[in-house]
Amino acid sequence: MRFYITTAIDYPNSRPHIGTAFEKIGADVQARFRRMEGLDVHFLMGNDENTIKVSQRAEELGVEPKPYVDDMARQFQEVWKALEVSNDDFIQTSEQRHYIGCQKFIQAVYDAGDIEKKAYQSLYCDGCEEFKTAKELVDGRCPNHPNRALREVEEENYFFRLSSFADRLLAHYDANPDFIQPESRRNEIVSLVKSGLQDVSISRKGFTWGIPVPFDPDQTIYVWFDALLNYVTAIGYGTDQERFESIWPADIHVIGKDITRFHCALWPAMLMSAGLPLPKRVFGHGFVYRKDESTGEIAKMSKSLGNAVEPMDLIRSFSAEAFRYYFMSQCPFGGDGEFSFERFADAYNSGLANNLGNLYSRTLSMAVRYFDGDLAGASAIDATAWRAGLDLSALVDELRSLMNTFQYNVAIQRIWAEVLDAANRYIQVTEPFKLVKTDVEATRAVLVNLAEAIRVISILIKPFLPSTAETFYSAFSFAEGAAWETVSYSDILKRPDIADLKVTAPLISGKPAPLFPKIETKAG
Ligand SMILES: [Zn+2]
Repeated sequence: MRFYITTAIDYPNSRPHIGTAFEKIGADVQARFRRMEGLDVHFLMGNDENTIKVSQRAEELGVEPKPYVDDMARQFQEVWKALEVSNDDFIQTSEQRHYIGCQKFIQAVYDAGDIEKKAYQSLYCDGCEEFKTAKELVDGRCPNHPNRALREVEEENYFFRLSSFADRLLAHYDANPDFIQPESRRNEIVSLVKSGLQDVSISRKGFTWGIPVPFDPDQTIYVWFDALLNYVTAIGYGTDQERFESIWPADIHVIGKDITRFHCALWPAMLMSAGLPLPKRVFGHGFVYRKDESTGEIAKMSKSLGNAVEPMDLIRSFSAEAFRYYFMSQCPFGGDGEFSFERFADAYNSGLANNLGNLYSRTLSMAVRYFDGDLAGASAIDATAWRAGLDLSALVDELRSLMNTFQYNVAIQRIWAEVLDAANRYIQVTEPFKLVKTDVEATRAVLVNLAEAIRVISILIKPFLPSTAETFYSAFSFAEGAAWETVSYSDILKRPDIADLKVTAPLISGKPAPLFPKIETKAG
């Protein structure tokens, strides 16, 4: 079964910041989880290139827009790759497949009678690339860009008759209670649509960068109408109809809460007009706020506020896995999160260095030191001894439901509190470092059980920390059974073959490589 998941496409007028990365990692965790559940996942990301901001930025740098956006697309993908984001495709909206699909789509909406030309005069924010109504302004300024002056713009544009879709949209929300998630966003959108929708301008005059309106080439397709279409043009709308129909509709659009209304009102109305099925779900995630260590002030992380942290800096200083762990465990995906180096170091040390990494190195070190890595022939095998009292099957059911609703931070809490704590407690209770002096075979049995715990943990953390998970799985010879790529939640409860169990992790001078070296903080 297909599972089509997308993220928002990004403006390449500057490099990605960690707020953008939060979204991509959240979508990646979902894509990896769905692959583990046996679905045929198609995961799309991309850059939103047909915007004035982008052509202005290229002009500032003295380059043509196309080489500029191509270079930025390369830089964005480099960051996503470094963060282990497993997207299957990356669309640049300056590509031919988007150009063709976009023109076909706007023509279909025009032919359906939902586009009209009218004169328009309003205040325009260059930062948001949208017109602002008086009630949206704060002290006469755009609330998102208080440092930029609004421009008064008057021109003849094409308008999409969004106002005429309000009833159909409300009926759709009603019939599909899961369409907008989380619940708080759903309520916002329902009341927005109930309060009345205005027709939206979908073209601009006199721009050379962007896609011309096919029935009036003096006009260029306006940024939102163009950008939203990436979800269909990337999979063949207008260029490969068969492929398009085999993938569309999207199972989920993962986007930021600030653009939920475009995805939940404008986008479904556009699709209704063009006669296409609607996406099944839209998930509006929260934002990551940056806490300033010296002043304690909290600000939204964005490029325009100049307080963004480069993901590559964090990846180089720590690791991609540490980055993923922090954002998925400390920031609720549906709500808002906070970033500070202090909190990052705390979460890293307690969750990764002292817990996950420590369990790994203790288990492996003992297996190597006491048995030369060979655990074959253990008697009294009991795969549940390390997790006495833990109902793993019930936990897996719970995790499935948490993953399905994007409650990643709760899922991680549950894995750490139930499974990792059980395994660490098992070491404390059995004390293999003492036991080995009196009963070698009983010690071997304890280490076999710990190896099994490491196998179970590897599968549980697979969507979140893909490379650590693989390191865990291949630490012992379990990989000789089921190949890592195919291992899923359903393997957790299987009893693996441990007859010839041995350490297969690479060793440095007889010791496992430390996975998460502790971060030294001022407090020590
Ligand atoms: Zn603005």
